[in-house]
Amino acid sequence: MLFILILSSMNLLRSSNQDELQKRAQTAAQLFASVTQSAVLSSDLASLDSFVKEVLTNPGIVYARVLDRRNVVLAQGGDPQALKRLFHPHQIFDDITDAILDAQADIVIEKIHYGRVEIGISTDTISAVLAAARERTTAIAIVELLVVGLFSFFLGLYLTRGLDALKQATLKISQGELGYEVEVRGHDELAQTAHAFNEMSKELRVLYDQRKRAEEELSKLNEDLERRVNLRTEQLTAAYQKIEHQALHDSLTKLPNRTLFQDRLQQTLLTGQRENRPFALVMMDLNKFKTINDTLGHHSGDLVLQETASRLRGILRQSDTIARLGGDEFAMILPTVKDMPAAATAANKIIDTINKGMELEGQTLNIGTSLGIALYPRDGNDAGLLMRHADIAMYAAKRSKSGFMLYSEDLDQSSSGQINLQKDLTRAITENQLVLHYQPKIDFASERVSGVEALVRWQHPEHGLMFPGDFLQLAEDSGLIKPMTRWILLTALNQCKKWHEEGRDLTISVNVSSASLQDVQFPNDVAAVLNEVGASPAWLELELSELGIMLEPPRAMDIIIRLSELGVRIVIDDFGTGYSSMAYLRKLPIAKIKVDRSFVHDMLGNKNDEVIVRSIIGLGHNLGLNVIAEGVENMATWDQLKSLQCDAAQGYCMARPITAEELERWFRESPHGLKLKKG
Ligand code: C2E
Ligand code: MG
Ligand code: MG
Repeated sequence: MLFILILSSMNLLRSSNQDELQKRAQTAAQLFASVTQSAVLSSDLASLDSFVKEVLTNPGIVYARVLDRRNVVLAQGGDPQALKRLFHPHQIFDDITDAILDAQADIVIEKIHYGRVEIGISTDTISAVLAAARERTTAIAIVELLVVGLFSFFLGLYLTRGLDALKQATLKISQGELGYEVEVRGHDELAQTAHAFNEMSKELRVLYDQRKRAEEELSKLNEDLERRVNLRTEQLTAAYQKIEHQALHDSLTKLPNRTLFQDRLQQTLLTGQRENRPFALVMMDLNKFKTINDTLGHHSGDLVLQETASRLRGILRQSDTIARLGGDEFAMILPTVKDMPAAATAANKIIDTINKGMELEGQTLNIGTSLGIALYPRDGNDAGLLMRHADIAMYAAKRSKSGFMLYSEDLDQSSSGQINLQKDLTRAITENQLVLHYQPKIDFASERVSGVEALVRWQHPEHGLMFPGDFLQLAEDSGLIKPMTRWILLTALNQCKKWHEEGRDLTISVNVSSASLQDVQFPNDVAAVLNEVGASPAWLELELSELGIMLEPPRAMDIIIRLSELGVRIVIDDFGTGYSSMAYLRKLPIAKIKVDRSFVHDMLGNKNDEVIVRSIIGLGHNLGLNVIAEGVENMATWDQLKSLQCDAAQGYCMARPITAEELERWFRESPHGLKLKKG
């Protein structure tokens, strides 16, 4: 291509030289014609010759000739050979064979033709010029070739390097080095490509980073999801375990519940049967739980149950099962207890730990417990029977206040009777099976009856007349004590009102259970009954046991104050048995203290008891209290008490507790106050 270009340029040069030459020949001929004009006109041949000679001095002009209008040569000169040859006007340059280019010009003056001039020009000169031009062109072509070659070489080098850099960069990118950039130099297409490449690389890096971030986020999300799934699984497992635990455990004490206990009992029983292994089943109940729960509230009750559970856990073995069956009822399986002596040891251990005072909201409570024990296989072969027998033993222990009982067949009958008794007691209140007996209190000063104490009895349709010791605990445990106390108050006050209406100015004493002393409603109940009966509060004395006050002194104090504010007199019953604090006695609005009959009973024969009675009387008087002695069974005691300046007495010696009708007779036999006869 380059070669063709050079050739064509050479041709162009050559053809331009030929044209130039022809023009020059033509110009020279015309110039010659114009110079010779006047000489031709005047036919001055000498001048024409000199003109010819002068023309011939021009290098390259081979001949010159001047002709007139008839083609007669007027003057001529130059190469003789050339003059002889045939004139070839308008000859094409390439056809020239004799190396002379002919040119002519007419001599015309004012449009009149006078002749012409002819000249020949040597083409050798042209050839020399052409050769020189050809040489020049070749040189230029070589230079051009060199320049183009070099340019191509450097261009190639440049392009190769650039492409190589791009290739390397592509390789790097393919190897993961995203964002790799090639060096950009200049502004050519390669630079633009490199620039575009860099942009693409950057874009790839950005996209890669974005993807990586997205992947990381996805991975985090996955991890999070996995973690959450694990957590949820754990939570579900825990929840399931919790539900399972809840289903089988008591939420308050965390001890196994009845369901789990029965299952464990069944397992122990099967092992016992298979391996011929005896074990003990213990049923346990808290003695004062009901009272505490009813009086101090459920929160206190809960604390007592929790403390009990914790104490049991503390003393029993790992292999033992402790369960809370409900309320204050606990049960234990003791696989290592195989006979009665071992059972007694275990029972005493349990009783000792429960009997230790419980600190509850700043005070010490003595709860007490009753245990019933049944031994496998001695007392039963199946779970149901063993539980029933342990239960019977427990109720027997409760009744007898013996702490614990081992099951025996004798217990069975009395126990089942006891269980029925609670149902009977509910009916007893509504069906008027309860009765009050009255025991007179005699003033030492007047030796006349000043008041009577109401003592409850239960006229049981089957068991006959029952005494408070047979059913009071049951009433307290079952909560029946509240309606029962109300019935007693109502009945006693109605009776008292009747006496007053008959002209007998007597007080009526009603015993108040410790449960009532913790019942903040109790003063209101008393006021309501007084109101209902239309009785004067001054007629009523309430006998409170020391133990009842000491159960929770602040609350009891509050209730006592409110009772006293009603105008009712407060008597401390069974004084001397409850370790009353002097501080309380002094603070309380008490009217009387009643010396417990256990001191009075033996005071004549037992010096200690006599000292105690004497001290109590002295203490009472010092505190400005009236002192009454109960359990006076003979006149000697009466006399002794009188000499000790006791204020009043009560006992079989003067009168047993009797019905209202019997008391009527008693009143009649000793109308308006009984004068006691000595002896
Ligand atoms: P308490 O209040 O100390 O009643 C006196 C108890 O001593 C009565 O027994 C009475 O029968 C008995 N007693 C009276 N004089 C003599 C005597 O000379 N010698 C002997 N050995 N005993 C005598 P009871 O009726 O069996 O009552 C026992 C306890 O039951 C009472 O002791 C009282 O704490 C409680 N109680 C009785 N009735 C009621 C009642 O209506 N409500 C409440 N909450 N408790 C009552
Ligand atoms: Mg009493
Ligand atoms: Mg008493």
